[in-house]
Amino acid sequence: MSEKNVGGAPEPRRPSASDQRRQARGLTVAAAALLVALLGVGGALLALAFSQTSGAPTGGVLGVIREMDAPAQPGQGDGDGAGGADAPAANDPRAASLALDPSAQTDWKTDGTGEKTVYLTFDDGPSKNTQRVLDVLDRYGVKATFFVTGHEPDYRPMIKRAYDDGNSIGLHTMTHDYAQVYSSEDAYFSDLDQVGQVVKDQIGFVPYLVRFPGGASNTVSASYCPGIMTALSTDLTARGYQYYDWNVSSGDAAGNNVPVDKIVSSSCVEGYTNVMLLFHDAGTKDTTVDALPQIIEFYQARGYKFAPIDRDGFVCHHHINN
Ligand SMILES: [Zn+2]
Repeated sequence: MSEKNVGGAPEPRRPSASDQRRQARGLTVAAAALLVALLGVGGALLALAFSQTSGAPTGGVLGVIREMDAPAQPGQGDGDGAGGADAPAANDPRAASLALDPSAQTDWKTDGTGEKTVYLTFDDGPSKNTQRVLDVLDRYGVKATFFVTGHEPDYRPMIKRAYDDGNSIGLHTMTHDYAQVYSSEDAYFSDLDQVGQVVKDQIGFVPYLVRFPGGASNTVSASYCPGIMTALSTDLTARGYQYYDWNVSSGDAAGNNVPVDKIVSSSCVEGYTNVMLLFHDAGTKDTTVDALPQIIEFYQARGYKFAPIDRDGFVCHHHINN
């Protein structure tokens, strides 16, 4: 991970282009809401149809859920992404903020924010463990971010449930097959578009948040396409996406059911202002859920707030090695 990711000195909040954009967005949302109201039943039916898209392609079984990313640096784990643009639902202000918008010029906080904040992030779901994670989050009243895959079609409704609970949804990968995803830029974006559609089918829009399989720092991609991470990191943001790596890893990618104590000790780290913490909510990660309460309590006791990723929050980037 890159040292510059560490959230450092408080950064004064200043009115920015993004504030103005939010204002403009608010007006747009209000106008759109009015229009929907005027359209009455017709509009409601349209909205219903829009929200019920279904049946995305089943890349599921292809998914080799190998978190073989043996990150070269401590605090790494895994990452991926995907996406496509679309108009967010007019009655959902969060959608307006989280939806992919190629024209958005966000003031990304790559140096962190000044406020002690933990961003819990979960890759590789949804799975049978996702509801367990949501239950823990709910018990503590905290929100997180889920970077999802297309692995288990039966659990896709969990994407909507997580979003409706106030969590952010990001794109990880459709297949998680490194050899395929990183074979070329076209292959990567094709995979990203597929998982973006899976998410859109659930929540009505393609989010801008992406996590690369293996993180931006992965070197495994060099086996399939030298230089691809350098190219993707630039092209992804040019298309309106933002990718998020992590500065603390729970270590749960080391194997299935890593001992709880080990996950807790890897996750509880002093000294960061902004903590972007990597977990996995795949079906094989039972102990991750078991460890979560202790980790949340550790940071709560030290005055951290917990936040889902959004455009105003910390952007954590690894050093790119391919
Ligand atoms: Zn992953």
